[in-house]
Amino acid sequence: MSWENNVRRVVPYTPGEQPKVSDIVKLNTNENPYPPAPCVQKILDNFDNARMRLYPDPNAEILVNALAETYHVKPNQIFVGVGSDDVISMAFLTFFNSERNILFPDVTYSFYDVWADVYKIPYQTVPLTEDFRINPDDYKIPNGGIIFPNPNAPTGVLESLDMIEEILRANPDSVVMIDEAYIDFGGVSCLPLLEKYENLLVIQTFSKSRSMAGMRIGFAIGSEKLIKYMNDVKFSINSYTMNHLTLLCGAETLKDAEYFKSSTGKIIETREQAKKKLSELGFVFPDSKSNFIFASHPDYDAGKIFQKLKERKIFVRYWNKPRINQHLRITVGTPEEMQKLFSALEEILAEGQ
Ligand SMILES: *Cc1c(COP(=O)(O)O)cnc(C)c1O
Repeated sequence: MSWENNVRRVVPYTPGEQPKVSDIVKLNTNENPYPPAPCVQKILDNFDNARMRLYPDPNAEILVNALAETYHVKPNQIFVGVGSDDVISMAFLTFFNSERNILFPDVTYSFYDVWADVYKIPYQTVPLTEDFRINPDDYKIPNGGIIFPNPNAPTGVLESLDMIEEILRANPDSVVMIDEAYIDFGGVSCLPLLEKYENLLVIQTFSKSRSMAGMRIGFAIGSEKLIKYMNDVKFSINSYTMNHLTLLCGAETLKDAEYFKSSTGKIIETREQAKKKLSELGFVFPDSKSNFIFASHPDYDAGKIFQKLKERKIFVRYWNKPRINQHLRITVGTPEEMQKLFSALEEILAEGQ
């Protein structure tokens, strides 16, 4: 017997690299290339550090109220956390608590199986179709809950509200979570379905479309019942997840709808240009409605391209995993960053295998 027999052992999630060197082109973790809304800087400049002495508001009211106003729901329909990773982890802990398998796609956000493992939640992955689509019929089996991102990651594929509703209709006895981390880049949110489905939880984040990955703000919107259950679990673990500064910056950025629209608009435009350029270079990819493109090249090994880009200080994301080991996930950066990527790819492809 050793204390080590009783350790909760897990294989952790591997986040994308955050290289410490400068002058790199960083297209590997779906960060936003533009700064947060200018009003956020004013909050930082005016913050009085004497406030640090006090605990923050455990109900995160200023942020919750701002979100309620922005998304036209009641404040008690909103749960906030330290990035949507924290929110989704809390949601797993709260709602995935049966003997039955929870379901998610085989190709998806690689944190889901990690949370399932750490919380000892049984799960079953559901293969996407050849072209990386979700077949709703696959989700009409007994289950302990359902989660997938829309658009999906790392594929960028957006599914329709009709498809999501079909899954909801077939699963009144499960909590269905839709992870909308990338919905602001041209997708249609399933928030309107909340009116009809008490068991729907929609999760979003400030990390991508609102340029605040470093601030760590995520939120879930659902029925008052779902949110109450999540808060009960949260207040049983850590009441003070959101700090003063985060609450203020988060609430403030929601006021600048114009900036939000223009910066997501720029990314969408750059993405559409990138699709054209990548096609010209011979890459193929499912149509993306996110801030990244999941591309493969019929004549070149993705792992090798990944390495050669890295040697040129251009970072994209690559997984040596079944089904996706010939793909690169390329975050949409500024037009200048994308130009550097295209020039490097031209060189690499010219070198041959
Ligand atoms: C980035 C991402 C998240 C989590 O982002 P946070 O920074 O924790 O808010 C969640 N789901 C998917 C699919 C993501 O890509």
